[in-house]
Amino acid sequence: MKLFTFPKGGIHPHEHKDTAASGLKSLDLPDTVYVPMVQHIGAPALPVVQVGDKVKVGTLIGKEQGHISAPIHSPVSGTVTKIDTILDASGIRRPAVIIKREGDEWEPAIVRNFDLVSARNFTPDEIVQKIHDGGLVGKGGATFPTRVKYMVPPGKMVDTLLINGVECEPYLTSDHELMLDRPEEVILGADLLRYTLGTKLAVICIEANKPDAIALLQKKVRDMGLEAPADYLKKHLSGKGETAQTNPDRSGYIAVVALKVKYPQGAEKQLIRAVLGREVPSGKLPLDVGVIVNNVATAHSAYKIIQKNKPMVERIVTIAGEGVKKPGNYKIRTGMSLRDVLTAVDGLPEGDCKILLGGPMMGKAVSNLDVPVTKGTSGILVLPAEKASRNDIGPCIRCASCIKACPMGLEPYLLEKLVELKRLDDAQSHAIRDCVECGSCSFVCPSNRPLLDMIRLGKAQLLKAAKK
Ligand code: SF4
Ligand code: SF4
Repeated sequence: MKLFTFPKGGIHPHEHKDTAASGLKSLDLPDTVYVPMVQHIGAPALPVVQVGDKVKVGTLIGKEQGHISAPIHSPVSGTVTKIDTILDASGIRRPAVIIKREGDEWEPAIVRNFDLVSARNFTPDEIVQKIHDGGLVGKGGATFPTRVKYMVPPGKMVDTLLINGVECEPYLTSDHELMLDRPEEVILGADLLRYTLGTKLAVICIEANKPDAIALLQKKVRDMGLEAPADYLKKHLSGKGETAQTNPDRSGYIAVVALKVKYPQGAEKQLIRAVLGREVPSGKLPLDVGVIVNNVATAHSAYKIIQKNKPMVERIVTIAGEGVKKPGNYKIRTGMSLRDVLTAVDGLPEGDCKILLGGPMMGKAVSNLDVPVTKGTSGILVLPAEKASRNDIGPCIRCASCIKACPMGLEPYLLEKLVELKRLDDAQSHAIRDCVECGSCSFVCPSNRPLLDMIRLGKAQLLKAAKK
């Protein structure tokens, strides 16, 4: 089996995928949910409910504001008790709707059975509207509103849809679990998104450390009559494919390809380079090379929204780390606080620990257990203090390991120094903005230099200056 990969940089941290294929579990519903109006990149949604209002699961409680925004739906049925601000994972107070749960009553339009619906009953424009109304955002962590991705500007052509099932972050296995648990729904979601774009091919990309998911999805794609012929696939992957203009009936195929295990292969630019051999130029987007990338869980949610009217109110979250007593993949309603989640899996470990939202490479450490699960929460990682503490920082010994590890071809040691010296213009001319914040440079540095921290600081300062 051919294994795709990107050529520049990359590392192979310990995988820690202990929760893989352990079966999907559910948690008891929380008594109260804290639903942030910002669960996406862009403007916060505006609450459209009042204290005392009764809501059901799926009731619209926040309306999008502006072009880059997304609506928010209630994850439980009950009574709105407060409209307030709560802390998010970054420690910033955000507007939120607080709901006391009563029972589990769903909006009647939501179809809750698992019967597969493969008929395409909507036009591409109707699908874009539906995924907007369902509050769909990227579930791989970026939380970019999906509707905006699918509003391809005039003059741009998309010829390939990549469905990202790479999940290269250590510990995280929620996408893996989803592919094993709901393969047909993932495939149908990918096909609906492909149809919406009008491309002939959608490629589901999975790293080789998930052979069960690769084999299962390949078989299901074959059984569903969607498999791309081998000669077509070969031709498409080595050149440009059909767009909505050259594929007017919007028919098409799904392919499932395997990738070598390498971090950060799930980053959009690395994935595009690995599978299609295309370089996204500095400062440009996947769209500029004819590609749209969606996470495998986003494709699954698209299916649920389009075919079952089910908005984004729950997701699969990996709960893992040496500090967790009952690790696994859990289906969790958004708005459930980390305190309630961790209590439901038998509590926090004794002593100090570090809690991360996401994986150890790109996840965010949280300082408050009142932070809720949101649409973008793929994992909750609990690490005992001794595993999470940083080693002493030494001087840079010019070993160039950080340069070799950087998948973007940057010079991390130099960027760190330029930020430290406040030479932000020079950092910009050395492409600091191209950093995808994968943390590979910090991971390999023998002197434990805080490379990514300084690069993030420099990027934030540049952004602030640009806004001014
Ligand atoms: S964090 Fe940025 S600079 Fe460091 S390896 Fe990743 S892309 Fe390169
Ligand atoms: S890896 Fe660390 S020690 Fe080596 S060049 Fe980069 S910053 Fe310096």
